[in-house]
Amino acid sequence: MNAASDSILVINCGSSSIKFSLVQPQSGEHLLKGLAERLGSEEAGLSWKGKVNGEKTIGAADHKQALLEVVELLRVSGLTPAGVGHRVVHGGEQFSASCLVDEDALAATRATQHLAPLHNPVNLLGIEAAQAAFPELPQVMVFDTSFHQSMPRRAFLYPVPYELYEEHAIRRYGFHGTSHRFVVAKAAEQLGRPLEELALVSAHLGNGCSAAAVLGGKSMDTTMGLTPLEGLVMGTRSGDVDPSLHEHLCNTLNLSLAEVGSLLNKKSGLLGLSGLTNDMRELLEAEEAGNERAAIAVEVFCFRLAKQIASLVVSLGRLDALLFTGGIGENSAQVRARCLKLLPFLGLDLDEVANAVHGRESGGRISHSSSPAALVVATDEELLIARDTAELLT
Ligand code: AMP
Repeated sequence: MNAASDSILVINCGSSSIKFSLVQPQSGEHLLKGLAERLGSEEAGLSWKGKVNGEKTIGAADHKQALLEVVELLRVSGLTPAGVGHRVVHGGEQFSASCLVDEDALAATRATQHLAPLHNPVNLLGIEAAQAAFPELPQVMVFDTSFHQSMPRRAFLYPVPYELYEEHAIRRYGFHGTSHRFVVAKAAEQLGRPLEELALVSAHLGNGCSAAAVLGGKSMDTTMGLTPLEGLVMGTRSGDVDPSLHEHLCNTLNLSLAEVGSLLNKKSGLLGLSGLTNDMRELLEAEEAGNERAAIAVEVFCFRLAKQIASLVVSLGRLDALLFTGGIGENSAQVRARCLKLLPFLGLDLDEVANAVHGRESGGRISHSSSPAALVVATDEELLIARDTAELLT
């Protein structure tokens, strides 16, 4: 036995990168964190932080070879995980909870591949590579979508012919489930109340953004839909637009559907509006320096965020707390304040002093003690994956 023998290796596999983290599920400590990137190219590299930090080139390693490097790194660091937890983007309607990897689970995940063609195949590749690298370890899949499987049909159905749902699984799924699930549980702790009693809106604001209405610990509605493009303004994604925009752009700019998809996913949102950057911190600085386009981007971001938060309260009937998380939600006092100023009718009473110190000295609370509360809650998706994995191993 070594110090890490009950720790979990968490793997998040992208098309050319693998993020990994060795997490102690009880304490939440990250014993080792690293990134294998530019996989498949000559410049593939591995970097890590832990007791010792380091980096090395790994030739033209693919996912499998990169994970063998991680095995070696763990061995020389004297760290032995008890299991491996994988982030998987889409679990379709098959998965409303995390599950152990077996042939049936893999087949069911493959069957949802068409719903996330850019993500699920690489997530599955990561699982296969990890099975080869750690043949003796149990593996678990934790889905971005599963938390939102509790949404009622009024929230998950699109008003299009019902057969499209029945025959092609066209519906709203929602994403960022691990983050929303983590922060609502933590918010209940911060508020000192059982999660089962609480009506919460959780706003995950990072480079990708989504908000969710969570009643008694169950997701009732969320802003992302069939894909992560729906909903809030994001770093490079537009969020909601008129569905006829696709046809209109195809006709007026002579773009293909794929080009419109790329425009809405990669060139829109904060980047598209500002023409400057997708980075909120840089935009706030540029706005301060008088850049009008940066100001427009932040204004639209905050307005649409407030509007969607208000609409999510419909699913709850009341609001006990609004939670801010993700890089922007946890760090930008300005975005939080601007959003709350647009929601006076919710009774959220901003405490400017607590907000300025990110609520750190008031247990995350950035509103005065009246209800509802506004809270800053730091997310840790890797810890949630580690905890789900540890639970399934026992
Ligand atoms: P994430 O994807 O969760 O890492 O979040 C990335 C986003 O958080 C980027 O838009 C960053 O600019 C933003 N961010 C991080 N720190 C700050 C900060 N201090 N103020 C404003 N935005 C921040």
